[in-house]
Order: sequence, then C-alpha cells, then structure tokens
Amino acid sequence: MSNDVLTAIIKCTNHCNYRCKYCFVNANSHRQNMTYETLRIAVKKLLSSSKYGTVNFIWHGGEPLLCGLDLFRNITVLQEEFNSENKTYTNSIQTNGSLLNDETVDFFKENHFKIGLSLDGPKEINDATRINSHYAGTYDKAINTIRLLQKHGLVTGAIATITRHNYSYPVELYELFNKNRIHMKLGQLVNSGRAKSRTEELRLSPEEYGDFATRLFDLWLNDEGNAISISPFESIILSMFDHGNKPTECIHAGRCYEKFISISPSGDVYPCGFFQGYEKFRYGNIRELSLDDIEGTEPFKLLKSRYEMVERLCRGCIYFQYCHGGCPFSALSNNGYIFSKDYYCDAYAKIFRHISEHLCPEHVYIRDPKKKAQVMGGGGGGGGGGGGGGNGQYTVMYSVEYAVWQNYEVVV
Ligand code: SF4
Ligand code: SF4
Repeated sequence: MSNDVLTAIIKCTNHCNYRCKYCFVNANSHRQNMTYETLRIAVKKLLSSSKYGTVNFIWHGGEPLLCGLDLFRNITVLQEEFNSENKTYTNSIQTNGSLLNDETVDFFKENHFKIGLSLDGPKEINDATRINSHYAGTYDKAINTIRLLQKHGLVTGAIATITRHNYSYPVELYELFNKNRIHMKLGQLVNSGRAKSRTEELRLSPEEYGDFATRLFDLWLNDEGNAISISPFESIILSMFDHGNKPTECIHAGRCYEKFISISPSGDVYPCGFFQGYEKFRYGNIRELSLDDIEGTEPFKLLKSRYEMVERLCRGCIYFQYCHGGCPFSALSNNGYIFSKDYYCDAYAKIFRHISEHLCPEHVYIRDPKKKAQVMGGGGGGGGGGGGGGNGQYTVMYSVEYAVWQNYEVVV
C-alpha cells in the first residue's frame, strides 16, 4: 500500500451561526450543506484511491455541527463501509464549539475525533473579532466549551488568528492558553471572503506578525512550568534537529498540493479550503473526478510551477529547508498574483532565525515512534539545523501535551 498521506478538508456546510470578522468562507453568503450522496462519494473515493495509504479527514465549514450529529454518525459508517483496503485514517473536526454538548463530545471521544476550536485571546480581545449571528461576543461560550471538553478528559486545541486586534497582546494570549491548558495553533489572517473587506482593520504587516510570533516564542520557551504546545514552534524545532523531518504545517511542508485537497459542500474539489470559489483552482467535482487524475489538471500544474518558481525565488535563503516558500494562497490573496513569494516571507525568516538562535532543551523530552528519534537531555540545542546526538540520534523537545496531542510516546 502507498505510504502517501492525504489530508482532505471537507466542508460539510457553508452555513454558520457565527459572523467572525475574518471569515474567509464568508459563511452564510451561500448557504449550502453537503448532501448524503456527495458525502458518500467523497468518502468512497478518498478511501479507495490507490494513491494514498493514509487519509486524514478534517471536517470543516462554515460550522460543521450545524449539519447535526447524524452527519458524523453517517461518516463513521461510510468510512467502515469503504475502507476495504484497511487504510489508516483519522478524523478531526474544526468547530466554533457553540453546539458541542455532552452527547456530541461523547460521540467524538468514542470515535477518536480530534476537536479543534478557535479563540483569539481574553474576552475583550476575542470578542473584537469572534462574534455570533447576533453580533455578540463568543468568549464565554468558548471557555465553557473548553471546560466541557476537559470534563470529558479531552486534550483541547484552538486556533488563535493573529490580527491587528490581538497582536499587541502576546502575554495575555499566552497566559490565557497556558492557564486553561489549550494548545495554541497560530493562524494568519486569510485575506479572502469577509476578511477581504476588512484588510486594513485586520491584516498585519509581515514585520508585525514576525514580532508577535517571536515574542510569543520567548514566552513559551522561557516558561519553566509545563508549557502548552504551540504550533508551528514544535514542528519547526523538530525540522531543525532532523533534516528529514519537514514542519508539519502545510505552509512550511512544501508542495502542499500533493498532500491536501478540499471538498466544498457541492462536491467541488480544490487544492485547499481557501481556494473554494476560485474557479481557476477547481480540480473538478468529486462526482466525476478521479483523485488519481488530479495531477493532470491545470490547477495542479499551476501550483506545481509556482512551487518551482518559488524554489528559484527563495534560492539563497538559508531557511528554505524549513520554510519551503510558504503558502501559495497567501501569495495570491495578499499579493494579487500566485507567482510570488508568500506575503509573510519576512516574518518567516525572522521566526526561523529567532528560533534557531534560541533553542535550548528545557522542555520534557519525548520519543516520536514514527521517526525513531531517541530522546536525550542536556546540551544547548543546535541552532539553524544543528543538533543531533553523538550516536546519530536526535534531541527533540516538546511539551507533554503536544506529545499526547500527536499520539507520541512520552519518555520523561
Ligand atoms: S494553499 Fe496554503 S493554506 Fe492551503 S494547503 Fe497550501 S500552504 Fe496550506
Ligand atoms: S523565508 Fe522567505 S525567502 Fe526564505 S524560504 Fe521562506 S518565503 Fe522563501
């Protein structure tokens, strides 16, 4: 069976009960739920494609839980029905959390779904951007949802989208997430959909984003307690120690178009969720499209030539091995043309430089069974691609919760 992994972001609906100011879907502008038939075809094709041995399903929206728990019951049944080749697959749901309750959380826990939430900071900061359909703040609801997940013993992670409203408050963000044991995933503004009409209000310059991220990194690194995990810091560090290990975040994984697709509620297939509605980047509809044929489509060729161009544009950048030129959609939506570097290039260079200069193994050490990385203590860490133990094994540092989140074996 193929070793290739595909991550499929499936948008069950474009409908949402929130009106976040930066929503790139512009949820509610075109209310549509995925039909059972489209869902069935999507699951079948994803699990029967010979191209991929592992499929990571990310259930997304809009707000996916507006489709009801029955949709997710159907998903698990369909996955069993169509996994005749016994592929590995995982399920995650990205939700605003407003519709989670004991019943839904029990279901997701029993069926091993990871649940991802969103939280942009303490109440006043979060509520400046994340508002519901009555234009009221959503902070209290988010915190209640986090408590609910924790009551069920689930590790909790949330995307913090960094905008002009919260970038001055790394301390407040870090304290909130750390105090409540929420893994943080940094999200950049996606300059599309509803966010596009508020670019000035929301979008940071690359320099501002880089400043925020490096200040956050310092807080995290100098935290002497059991620090939470922050994505992408851990995976950048891992890639610096282990040259065979690229950062896991799509923007730094390189050639994202080989590893990700997104399916809209109508069944249209795109390279990722951000491209939804960009006709030039539509591979086709899942009803007719064979996943094995994507490579021959014009959008795929376009993304491939953009990556080849970025390899040339970034030649000479010592961070390319960790960065891989960033996100093509960021180039398109922020610069107006895809044949350009990621808008956040200067921010990435600053973050990579800062991390490589400040690495020190003060966190709990874990063993990643997949990479067979032997965990060792001590030493000052390797800057900028250094590291590696004398016996050819690697020093890797993570927080314990990151290890649990990633299903790594902890060897404290
Ligand atoms: S286009 Fe950007 S956001 Fe989408 S998968 Fe590629 S790197 Fe990730
Ligand atoms: S930091 Fe900038 S120049 Fe360096 S690899 Fe990334 S996008 Fe290219």
